Amino acid sequence: MPDTFTLLIDPLPYDAVVDDQALQATFREVDAAEPALRVGELSTQRGDGIFETLAVVDGHAQELRPHLARLQNSARICDLPAPHLGQWEAAAARAAAALPDTGEQALKLVLSRGVEHGPAPTAWLHAFPAADQTRARTEGLRVVTLDRGFDLGTPDRAPWLLLGAKTLSYAVNMAAIREAHRRGADDALFVTSDGYVMEGPTSSVILRHGDVFSTPAPSGAILRGTTQVSLFEHLAEIGETTEVRDIPVSELETADAAWLVSSIRMAAPVRGIDGRELPVDPRTAAFNAYLLSPRD
Ligand code: PLP
Repeated sequence: MPDTFTLLIDPLPYDAVVDDQALQATFREVDAAEPALRVGELSTQRGDGIFETLAVVDGHAQELRPHLARLQNSARICDLPAPHLGQWEAAAARAAAALPDTGEQALKLVLSRGVEHGPAPTAWLHAFPAADQTRARTEGLRVVTLDRGFDLGTPDRAPWLLLGAKTLSYAVNMAAIREAHRRGADDALFVTSDGYVMEGPTSSVILRHGDVFSTPAPSGAILRGTTQVSLFEHLAEIGETTEVRDIPVSELETADAAWLVSSIRMAAPVRGIDGRELPVDPRTAAFNAYLLSPRD
């Protein structure tokens, strides 16, 4: 069974009513090693598009609906046509069926503005083996805080910055990770210029003070992480206390434990923040067992 799968998608209007045959006709399976996009594609020229990455664990696409809800939200923020949910669900189902039914794969969904003056947006799905996350999940990560360069009020003041949308423009996020490496850490933790904790460049952050788990409120500046939301639902179910609120940077110094969480990495314990050592919380393995179980 191949471990990669790529589907070009002819995006339907969000409210189109089509039968399965017509739906399947909007998909074209391609070889990811072959050229598939036009040179004028605005996703490659300007990073003008949105995406989602989700995990496929033992053949199950994790949290597909919440990821599609976030894709819809990103489309709204970026003035892109609203995605047809049934079409994306069918595309993900085709990918899941084509992939090995054991192990971890990553599924990337992309919706771009298409070609300038072109007739339609461009969409595709690409599935590939997820990088091995064992080390991050067990040994943990050292992080450094990096100034994201704007304050908590920026998203409301300047919505054209598209903060809160998962756009294809991740050059800044990748640069932050490189800066973290230069400073001897594994990953970065963004903070606002007015001193609030935000998120990692590709992850949400969760802190634990005593028995209370907290994460920054989605102020419009950070993504609403599907993994964080799912883990908080699980924590609430097992009787733990969770809080979603603005978190001043000073609380990083008093945290008893911390995690970076995201769809492919699941829960990576934070072993150090700006040089201060943190213990790896022994519950991390149970969190990852939950995150790797089938979730919708
Ligand atoms: N924040 C940012 C900036 C991200 O890029 C990601 C995931 O890639 C997340 C948070 C975590 O989101 P999720 O848990 O849905 O993967």
